[in-house]
Amino acid sequence: MSGIAENLQKILSNIREIEKSAGRPENSVRLVAVSKFHPAESVIEAVEAGQSLFGENRIQEAASKFDEIRSKGINCDLHVIGSLQRNKVKEAVRIASCIESVDRIELLEEIEKQAAKINKKIEIFFEVHTGEESKAGFTSEEDLNEVIKRCSDGDFPHITPKGFMTMAPFTEDKNLVRKSFVTLRELREKFQKSYPNLDLCELSMGMSGDYEIAIEEGSTIVRIGTAIFGQRK
Ligand SMILES: *Cc1c(COP(=O)(O)O)cnc(C)c1O
Repeated sequence: MSGIAENLQKILSNIREIEKSAGRPENSVRLVAVSKFHPAESVIEAVEAGQSLFGENRIQEAASKFDEIRSKGINCDLHVIGSLQRNKVKEAVRIASCIESVDRIELLEEIEKQAAKINKKIEIFFEVHTGEESKAGFTSEEDLNEVIKRCSDGDFPHITPKGFMTMAPFTEDKNLVRKSFVTLRELREKFQKSYPNLDLCELSMGMSGDYEIAIEEGSTIVRIGTAIFGQRK
């Protein structure tokens, strides 16, 4: 037995407990089960245990895995969470309902183009660099403002921006981790105020090692891999 069902149950009950002790409404945090490097069978096991939302960071791997799973009539939802090359956008748009890792304007333009082609509405999050050691994401608030303004102006009709994503620095220093999450939360509040016609409600932050702090700081989506599926090879 692999223990995926047990791990899921444990994580979900932890999430509910942390919500409660942080004074957050019940079910205000969703779980993305990060299945990268794990086979289709593991995803199916998680689906059978009740999980329906998954995260993958490599498009080719995700496409072959989720095409296989869906061809069996198994329904599940996929978020792309890893850095995305322009030539992979077409596949990403096809297989995912949300791209969490939008970190530059060119990507938005390509997502719009590919989504328009297949007449699909796709959600996106803006990935923001909030910690010293993580490299991905927007680093300049000006750049971020520019893309959000273009979304607000209606330049990307097939794209629905839903919020922000970040990875905290990989450090034992919990204060630095917390600081990173607070930065994202404050950024969300600020941009939501500036662009009231957008619904920037989501904060995707928190992984296996830091989701408790993330939920305390307002996370609405935690992305957890190792604590569900075990170590990646
Ligand atoms: C792999 C990955 C995760 C999950 O990490 P774990 O530590 O295994 O929970 C979350 N977010 C992103 C962007 C990832 O690449």
